[in-house]
Amino acid sequence: MTAQKGKIGVTTDNIFPVIKKFLYSDQEIFLRELVSNAIDATQKLRTLSSFGDYKGELGDMKVRVTIDKEAGTLTVSDHGIGMTAEDVDKYINQIAFSGAEEFLEKYKDNANAIIGHFGLGFYSAYMVAKKVEIRSLSYKEGATGVRWECDGSPEYVMEACDKAERGTDIILYIDDESKKFLEQNEINALLKKYCRFLPVPVISGKKQQWKDGKYVDTEEDNVVNSAEPIWTRKPADLTDEDYRNFYHELYPGQEDPLFWIHLNVDYPFNLTGILFFPKIKNNFEVTKNRIQLYCNQVFVTDSVEGVVPEFMMLLQGVIDSPDIPLNVSRSYLQSDTAVKKISGYITKKVAGRMDEIFRTDRTDYEKKWDDIKLFIEYGMLTDQKFCDAAMKFTLVKDTEGKYYSLEEYRTLIEGSQTDKDGDVVYLYTTDPVAQFTYINDATEKGYSVLVMDGQLESHFIGLLENKIEKARFVRVDSDIVDNLIPKADRASVDLTGRQRDMLTDMFRSQLPKVEGAEFLVSFEALSAEANPILITQNEYMRRMKEMAAMQPGMSFYGNLPDSYNLIINTGSPVIKQIIASADETLMPKLDQSFTDIDARNAESEDIRKATADGTPTDDQQNKIKSNDETVSHLRSVIKKESAEYAAEQPVVRQTIDLALLANGLLRGADLNAFIRRSVSLL
Ligand code: ADP
Repeated sequence: MTAQKGKIGVTTDNIFPVIKKFLYSDQEIFLRELVSNAIDATQKLRTLSSFGDYKGELGDMKVRVTIDKEAGTLTVSDHGIGMTAEDVDKYINQIAFSGAEEFLEKYKDNANAIIGHFGLGFYSAYMVAKKVEIRSLSYKEGATGVRWECDGSPEYVMEACDKAERGTDIILYIDDESKKFLEQNEINALLKKYCRFLPVPVISGKKQQWKDGKYVDTEEDNVVNSAEPIWTRKPADLTDEDYRNFYHELYPGQEDPLFWIHLNVDYPFNLTGILFFPKIKNNFEVTKNRIQLYCNQVFVTDSVEGVVPEFMMLLQGVIDSPDIPLNVSRSYLQSDTAVKKISGYITKKVAGRMDEIFRTDRTDYEKKWDDIKLFIEYGMLTDQKFCDAAMKFTLVKDTEGKYYSLEEYRTLIEGSQTDKDGDVVYLYTTDPVAQFTYINDATEKGYSVLVMDGQLESHFIGLLENKIEKARFVRVDSDIVDNLIPKADRASVDLTGRQRDMLTDMFRSQLPKVEGAEFLVSFEALSAEANPILITQNEYMRRMKEMAAMQPGMSFYGNLPDSYNLIINTGSPVIKQIIASADETLMPKLDQSFTDIDARNAESEDIRKATADGTPTDDQQNKIKSNDETVSHLRSVIKKESAEYAAEQPVVRQTIDLALLANGLLRGADLNAFIRRSVSLL
């Protein structure tokens, strides 16, 4: 079609083409609308009858959807209240031929609103039909049948007709582009989607049977819906089995749900439903099995964004409410106060239910915790109110697989894991296998270590640090065990500046290149039993990098290499030995260079001091420059000597490799060399 500019001419002549065009994408809802009308008419009659305003027999009240392929028609029939000629004039003619025009005029630039208005109702039939016929007989005493027909032009025909049975037939003459709606399979699928829980039995086609290698019709009517879905029933009348069966009916092929919550409220809004906690797989699944929204048991949509809080999108089940405005745009939905209340109610209800299970069935709750953790943490991160409630029933798990509430855990560790500033330090591991040695060190020291290996954990830890007073989370490998929870100022390292420089050069020279990693050499006087060299990762940098990986905006941190601390334990006998040998053999060779460096630096320093208030002369400037060059040369000499010396001391490389190995950082050829060296050292 070529593009055409202009204004929608709003006259009654072309309302139908407009409806067709705008509604094309959602064509199939015509069936939902017509069947809903039929159900309404049926229920109205029931109500009248129960109040004694209708005294006749109710008889067969089923709604039927019938296809006549030859005639090219689809008929929706009911035995409800029916319509008199006046009714048809009032409810069908007036609305279409006056209200619609006004509406289109007002909203002609807003396709959404047009869809909203026309998405519902009898006239959606024209999305698929070239002509629609109504045959109706009102329940009113002495009523005569009425026939109405309209082919989409403003002229309609209305006349009396013979109709023996009370109720209404809506006959759609399906247009040529919509022939698929004359296929029983197609209609069955649509009825299943929109009508499977309607409150009145809906019949379409016959039940089928497998016979002689194919499906054939039986004599029995095919009822497409279960008229009393369990969410409309009282929780007290339902068993766990009922809930599970219903879940599997909704989402075939899924594992059993973990929990469910039966929603039921009638003030200040009407809402019923059942929410299920599915067994969420390791990753955020793109959930195709989403919460379904119903309005008086009519399926409306399964895109419930805005109606339920975002984190509940991970849940499944049904929500049925006549109070949710269904035909308006999303942005409107989100700002609607009724919807906000509903969302708030659901949050409260879910939190309440979790709290109840936590309190009454702790064993079961713990068993399922790993599966619901993601949901709870997501909820806490995105919903303030839920977060406050969830602090009570959030569990943490230690490396022995024991679960604690946040309060219980705090009590457990407070005594032994409070640092010198009064902060309680929560130790955690993100990978119990890779961080095994650190966990071991910590537990041997009597500390408890939490397993926090979920996907949201780095965000969640930040949240807990905010929420729990005087709490600090520290990953178990972020420092040596003595420093994880600093209790007092630590022992000082007994090394001269020259020794530090020499040793730093020695160890640096033997450090293999590790892709994407950067090391900072430092010294700590730890116990003799501790490893000679330890590698730790900076907690802050690591968290930043982890967050960067989840958020595109933070690539600065993401691009930095991992930064590790290579800590040389001067309390270790092995290191003591290395220092003693180097002092004896290497230091004498370096002494002169160190002394020269000191002298040069001192000289430059003197010049700077002397000329602090004025400008140094050219001579003085040249002197500083040449001193710097000499120092830098001497530094490289020291570096070279230290490297050559260290290369002859396999124990240096060996201690480094052991530390790398414990952190999974020793790979490829370096790992190979380590194994050979180990063998030769034996
Ligand atoms: P809505 O259902 O939103 O009111 P419709 O255009 O679908 O709008 O229907 C307009 C009116 O026509 C209904 O309110 C009802 O009074 C009448 N009507 C439609 N279908 C039937 C039916 N099958 N039986 C009796 N009355 C009907």
